[in-house]
Amino acid sequence: MSRFFSKKYDGLTPYTAGEQPKDTKYVKLNTNESPFSLSENAVKYAKEALFKTNLYPDPDCTALHREIADMLGVSPDEVLATNGSDEILNFAFMAFCDKEHTAVFPNITYGFYKVFAEINGIPYEEIPLKDDFRIDINDYIGINKNIFIANPNAPTGIPLSVSEIEEIVKSNPENVVVIDEAYIDFGGESCVPLIKKYDNLLITQTFSKSRSMAGARLGFGSGSKELIDDLYKIKYSTNPYNVNSITAALGIGVLKDDLTIKENCNKIIKNREYTAAELEKLGFYVTNSAANFIFARHEKISGLTLYEELKKRGVLVRHFSKKEICDFNRITIGSKKEMEILIKTIKDILEV
Ligand code: PMP
Repeated sequence: MSRFFSKKYDGLTPYTAGEQPKDTKYVKLNTNESPFSLSENAVKYAKEALFKTNLYPDPDCTALHREIADMLGVSPDEVLATNGSDEILNFAFMAFCDKEHTAVFPNITYGFYKVFAEINGIPYEEIPLKDDFRIDINDYIGINKNIFIANPNAPTGIPLSVSEIEEIVKSNPENVVVIDEAYIDFGGESCVPLIKKYDNLLITQTFSKSRSMAGARLGFGSGSKELIDDLYKIKYSTNPYNVNSITAALGIGVLKDDLTIKENCNKIIKNREYTAAELEKLGFYVTNSAANFIFARHEKISGLTLYEELKKRGVLVRHFSKKEICDFNRITIGSKKEMEILIKTIKDILEV
């Protein structure tokens, strides 16, 4: 750290991103990316944009917002696209939280919520999950704080129902409830229709998972026009050109090719069921995930040892050192072939 780094960041612990190995070629099941690359059809849209990078992108993302709004069944002024969904989540902390309007989220969830709270100087509370790793909605009913919930939750993959989330939203009318639907396309039920009914609900989604665009960085939020206007204010006060023209064009191409995306999601769901069943046969406890990853623990091998042994054998998964979940590994669901390699490698490690 230089002597110039502001003291206001003294307590800041940055987010630890999953490994992106450059040396070894792994079966990479550690960062919940899609195993499927984009279709030629989707890429076609970006090609034209490549020849226009001498110009700034449209800061209002007009065409992209129209396409996202059509997909969601909302109006374009109820949508804001960002540089990955991390950015809209940070915007939400910046726009709606302060010392009087503090934040609350589960103690086991997406690690960035805590970092966003810290970098923005926002007091926050972490609510423990239940023993079975579920979110108990009663912990959030009428809590009177801004609420951040990933649905399905990460890294457990366990979803809440729309009616459970509606209970939370309804009981906190003076606060914003942010539902992070990064993994919603793999079996959960989206709360987007609720934005018409509740002006305190913001939904965030990403193009990084089901839509195979992690490398291009595209996410968005959807909520009442008033909430979206607030988020625009933050965008125009930080980086009006947060979504580059190539990414915006690619996003439109992907949405036009929605059949491929649906097929890909169905493949992931099938591979998830296969992997969970195989792991259970080997004695693993696997949470009931509705995401493109599973969360699994085995009585006979520690989470860290399994992670290390898999890595030695060329399979990369995600291990978290936090004590409540250090027995587990989060395993991204990839292609059928990748999942077969995973199972075979685990059998080698367990010597069964
Ligand atoms: N929310 C959750 C729960 C995530 O796991 C991730 C991915 N790490 C994100 C949001 C952010 O994804 P992105 O910025 O790629 O849209």
